[in-house]
Amino acid sequence: MWSGFPLFYSYFSSAETGYHTYRPPPPIKTISSFDQVELSLRGKPLILCDIDNTLLRYNKEYHHVYADVEKKYDRGMTQYGMTRNMLESSNQRYTKIQYIAKMEYDQYIQETPPIPTDAEGFNRLLLRVYMLNGELKFVTARGRLSKEFTRKHFKQIGVNYDDFDIHYTDATHKGEYIKKNISLEGYNDIYFIDDLDSFIDNVQSHLPQIQCYKFVAKPMSTPNEPAAPYSATPVIPFSITR
Ligand SMILES: [Mg+2]
Repeated sequence: MWSGFPLFYSYFSSAETGYHTYRPPPPIKTISSFDQVELSLRGKPLILCDIDNTLLRYNKEYHHVYADVEKKYDRGMTQYGMTRNMLESSNQRYTKIQYIAKMEYDQYIQETPPIPTDAEGFNRLLLRVYMLNGELKFVTARGRLSKEFTRKHFKQIGVNYDDFDIHYTDATHKGEYIKKNISLEGYNDIYFIDDLDSFIDNVQSHLPQIQCYKFVAKPMSTPNEPAAPYSATPVIPFSITR
């Protein structure tokens, strides 16, 4: 094959084809809106997108609940009848506070509808992906058992659950999971969007051909701002051919 043209050559010797030397993964790009995802115009992109703190989020984060429980615990005011015992070690205290905070956070998540991080940006990203004949799949570390719960969350933010392929990685690290379970064949460019460094690092080390985006949601202006539903704009105005 003639390979005098450097751009052409580097395209065919990329990590995807696997018969050339190691190529370092592209640098991680930090974004706070889905509009900042740069799709190559070669077409057929595949987006692998996280759910928690990327697609949607809650007003309260776990560490907020934890701090709150810590205060209540030391004043002997928590639920579940757990209060400070003067003889307990700091480790015991920590374990108990963690336990209560987890229960309270779970309860909070069960009772509170999530908020989209960037409803309009997500809509526009979907539109761009479909126009390039590509696909967007979700890859979440939520467990398989949370399927119905996730369906409810999607409904609450106006995203149609059944339009998407959703992967529940459970205890498997995301890079390993994707390598084993998601076919990357036939796509020209693959993008991974997540808020957690550890997942991004794992994807980069297993699949260096993937462009990773770290999603840092914009701070919320007011804590109880009503969610802008995704359904505000029609998302798929034409049929998708796969
Ligand atoms: Mg996340």
